[in-house]
Amino acid sequence: MPSFFINGKENLMAVLKGIEPQTVFDFFEEICMIPHGSGNTRQLSAYLKKFAEDRGLKVNQEPCGNIIIYKGASAGYEDSPSICLQGHMDMVCEKAADSRHDFKKDPLPIAMMDDDVFSRGTTLGADDGIAVAMILAILDSDEYEHPALEAVFTVDEETGMEGAKSLNYANIKSRRVINLDSEDEGVIYVSCAGGMSGRINLPVDLKMHKGIEYDVVVSGLHGGHSGDMIDRYYANAIVVMGRLLGFLQQRMKFRIVELAGGLMDNAIPREAGCHIQVSTENSIVFEQTIAEFEEIIKNEYRANEKNLMIYCENLGETERKVVRNESARRMMFLLTAVPDGVIKMCRDQGQESLVETSLNFGIMRLSEDRFTLEAALRSSISTEKYALSAKLRAIAEIVGAEYTEKGDYPAWEYNEESEIRSMLIRLYESQYGQSPVVKGIHSGLECGVIYHSLKPVDIVSFGPTIRGAHTPKETLSIASTHRTFELLCSLLREMK
Ligand SMILES: [Zn+2]
Repeated sequence: MPSFFINGKENLMAVLKGIEPQTVFDFFEEICMIPHGSGNTRQLSAYLKKFAEDRGLKVNQEPCGNIIIYKGASAGYEDSPSICLQGHMDMVCEKAADSRHDFKKDPLPIAMMDDDVFSRGTTLGADDGIAVAMILAILDSDEYEHPALEAVFTVDEETGMEGAKSLNYANIKSRRVINLDSEDEGVIYVSCAGGMSGRINLPVDLKMHKGIEYDVVVSGLHGGHSGDMIDRYYANAIVVMGRLLGFLQQRMKFRIVELAGGLMDNAIPREAGCHIQVSTENSIVFEQTIAEFEEIIKNEYRANEKNLMIYCENLGETERKVVRNESARRMMFLLTAVPDGVIKMCRDQGQESLVETSLNFGIMRLSEDRFTLEAALRSSISTEKYALSAKLRAIAEIVGAEYTEKGDYPAWEYNEESEIRSMLIRLYESQYGQSPVVKGIHSGLECGVIYHSLKPVDIVSFGPTIRGAHTPKETLSIASTHRTFELLCSLLREMK
C-alpha cells in the first residue's frame, strides 16, 4: 500500500479517500505530492525506483530518468509472453492567472467534487499520472493475474517525447504494449501520426521606397491544434494572406514592407498581417480590391469561419525598406505554390474519418535578409510524410530557397491483424455491453516512437476520461478510472 509519507513527512491531505479503486487513487495522490512537470521529473523517477526496490522488483533507471520495472508472471502465466505497460511521468504545468502554485516544489492542491478529481487552479497531471498510478497498483499487489510485466515510465513526453526517444529498447523484451496515455473512455486508439517540421528559407533583398503604406490584417479565425483540428478545414491566416497578395498582384503593383503570421508550426495560425506600399494613384483601387477579396474569402469560408475579418488601414505616405521585385516574385511563388491542410484521408476499413497526411504552415516571417515559412507535416504513414517533405523541398529549390527538416518522429502504423486489439474490443464489449470506438489519431503519441523501436510490436492505447488536459481546468473522472482499471485488469488476466 502507498505510505503517505513523502520525503519523511506525513501527507496529511489524503483527499482521495473512500473512492475506488482505492489503491490507484492512493498512488495517484502520492504522485500529486511530488512535483513532476516536464523537465523536473527527478523526484518522481527516484520515487518509482524506490517503489520497486522496496518490493524487491527489478528496476532500471536510465540516465534521463526513464524507469523500467520488471515483475514476474502470476501463477499459471509463466508461459505467456510478457507485456509492456507504459505511461509518461511528466505533466504540463499550467495554472490560473491568480494561482500562486509553485510547480517546482509545491504538492498539487488536489480536490474532489462529484465524479471529478481536479487540482485547484492548476493542471492535475492525470495526463499521464493516472497511468503511472494504475500501473503501480498492479505492480504493488498480488491480487491481479498477469503475464510477466515490463512497466515503462518515460520522462518528458509533453516536450517532444524525449524520454521515449532515448529509451534503451534493448531492455524491453515484450512485443505487446499497452499505452495508457489516451483521454477518452470508450475509445481505443490503434494508430497515430508521425511528424516533422519543414522550414523554407528564402534570401531576400530590400531597398528604400516611398509610397502610401497600408496595414492589412487577416484575423478572427478559429486556429487550433494542427493535428487534431486540421480536418475542420479552418482557414489558415498565412494561406489567406498569400491568397490576398496573389489577388492584389493581378490588379496593381505593390511593395511588401512587412509580412508575418502565426506563432507555432503546430498551431493553425489565427492571424496574419502585412504592411504594403502602393502608389498614391492606386490607393482607392487598393482599398476596393481588399474589400472585394474579403467578400471572396468570406464566401469560401462561409460555413466554418463566420468571424473571418480583413482589416485595412491607410498609414499615410512613408519611406521604408521594401522587398525588391525579384525577391517579391519568389515570395509570391512560394505563397501560391505550397500545399496546405489535409492532403489525404485514410482508406483503411473503419478508419475513413482519420486524416492520414496533412501539413500546416504555422509560421511566416520576413526579416532584413530572409523570408521564412515553417510547416508541421504529419502522416500515419511515414513514406507519405517524406514524400510531402520532398515536395516542399522541390518547391523551395525552384526559387533558390533553402529547405530544412527537423524534429522528425515516427508514426505508429495501423496493424491490420492486432491480437491485443481484438482481445481488448471483446473484453470492452462484455464489460460495457456496447462496442468501443476504434480509431487512429492524427497527432503524435509515444506509441509512434515505441512502434518504430520495437517493431514488429502489437500496441493499443486507452485510458480513463480526462477533460481539459493541459489546462488548469483538467479533471479526471473517478467512475471512468474505475471502469478503465477493471478493463486493464481483465485484459492482463485474458493473456494466459
Ligand atoms: Zn499525455
